This record gives sequence, C-alpha cells and structure tokens, in this order.
Amino acid sequence: MTKREALRQAQAELAAAGIADAYTDARLLLMQTGEMNSSQLLLSENETLKPQVYARYRAAILRRREHVPLQYITGEQEFMGLPFFVSPAVLIPRQDTEHLVEAAMPYCKGKRVLDLCTGSGCIILSLAKLCKPCLAVGTDISQEALSIAKKNAKALSVEAEFVQSDLFENVVGRYDVIISNPPYIRTDEISTLMPEVRDYEPHMALDGDADGLCFYRRIVAKAGEHLTEGGMLFFEIGAEQAGEVVSYLEENGFGEIFVKKDYAGLDRVVYGRLMDKQ
Ligand code: GLN
Repeated sequence: MTKREALRQAQAELAAAGIADAYTDARLLLMQTGEMNSSQLLLSENETLKPQVYARYRAAILRRREHVPLQYITGEQEFMGLPFFVSPAVLIPRQDTEHLVEAAMPYCKGKRVLDLCTGSGCIILSLAKLCKPCLAVGTDISQEALSIAKKNAKALSVEAEFVQSDLFENVVGRYDVIISNPPYIRTDEISTLMPEVRDYEPHMALDGDADGLCFYRRIVAKAGEHLTEGGMLFFEIGAEQAGEVVSYLEENGFGEIFVKKDYAGLDRVVYGRLMDKQ
C-alpha cells in the first residue's frame, strides 16, 4: 500500500467516526509514525509504506477513531511556539491560554513568578523561556502532572521549580506575579463536552465544582498572603466568568483590574494588582 492510499483510507475511517479534521489528523499521524516532515511526505506519497510504519500508523488511527485526542497519540503540543510533551495526566495546552501568557509577559522580567495548577508546565515554562524571571515556580496537586512539567523544563533547557501542592498549601514566600489557568468547567457541564475532552482529558484539570468558580475563590482568598505589595494576579477564565472573578478581586484588595478577550471576542483573561497588602 502506498502512503497516499494509507492516508486516504485513514481519512475515510476518521471522517466516518465523526472526527472533524480527518484529513489533517490522518496526515499528521502518518508524518509522525513515518518520521517525515510534510515535504518529505509530499515527495514520497506514491512510495510503499514500510510494514512496521504501516502497523504503527494503523495503531495510531485506531486510537484516533476512538476519539483519543491527537496530542495524546503524538505525545506533543506546541504552545507559545515551543514544543511541549503531553500525556493523559495533563490538560493539552490550548491556544486560548496564550492570551494569558501574553498578558503576563510584560510583568515577569527579573521577577518571582508562581503558576498554580501548572499541568504540563506550559504557562510557567513559556514565561521562564521568554521573559527571564528571576524565579519560576509551578505547582500542581498531581505528581504525574509535575513529572511531565519537569520533563518539559529539561527539554526546553529552562530553570523552573515544581512543587506538589494543593494551590498554596506548600507554597512558601511571596511572588511578584501569580498566574493560573485553574479548572473552571461546571461539574454538570463536563458530560456535555466533546468526547476528546470528556473521555480523555483529566477531569481534575477541568472540574471547577458546582459553579465552576471554586478555584478562583480559593486562589483570590489566599493570594494576598503570597503576593508582594503591588503584585499581579493573572487568571484564565471561562467566557461567562469575568463578572464574578472581577468581583472576587475587588472584594479582596485588588485594583487596576482588566478583562482581556480572546480572538473569538470572548472574555478569556482577568488580571489585577494587589493594592492593600494583607
Ligand atoms: N496550566 C495548565 C494549562 O494551562 C493546566 C491547566 C489545568 O490543569 N486546568 O494547560
């Protein structure tokens, strides 16, 4: 079977299974299993696939047919132009989260930066790589997530510390910037998510409790104890959550509060400055 034939067959199977980007996914998986880039694939489409590559490709396509996210099959996702390893222990970095990183970037140079619910480490490692903070720390309750974050730090040659902690539980000292993309989906909404997310991404990284806002309340309530005076707090939020999250900040001594939209025009980032040190 030629590469082109294998690709067409896989595309048809993925489309029949309801995978939206059947062609793109079939192509990316072929490139990955055959260890070729897109021009190498283009130039060799009429060549026969080696049996071992075909076997690996079929295994990957069968998983994708079951709606396993593409990134858990390839084991990687790009974020802020940097490559990140991912596994089912971590949320797959989203493009939306790049808005959060971009909002925080101007505040991080030479500063102490803390990322709560770090997952793959995509936020803190991008900031560490791109902004040269003097200290970069990521926390997560999941030890498995932290081992992925550490693997990413090593691969990116970035200096960062990772601490197992339920939010601030094991955090010591104060930081100039605290950033978080916490779980923010309402518990009753999780069953309505696309199968890739609902069935394969860690619920621990998605579930924000009954109203989706539990982590914002918990973080804002304690942030004052861990921020330096004038320190900044940055959150990614769900599109409907800006109002509540802004109120939590206002009620807890934050000012200069901004809401930033994503490319879809939806509220995506809320940030503010700690005005009264507690
Ligand atoms: N901080 C990680 C990310 O943005 C994980 C977020 C989470 O687990 N909710 O991808």
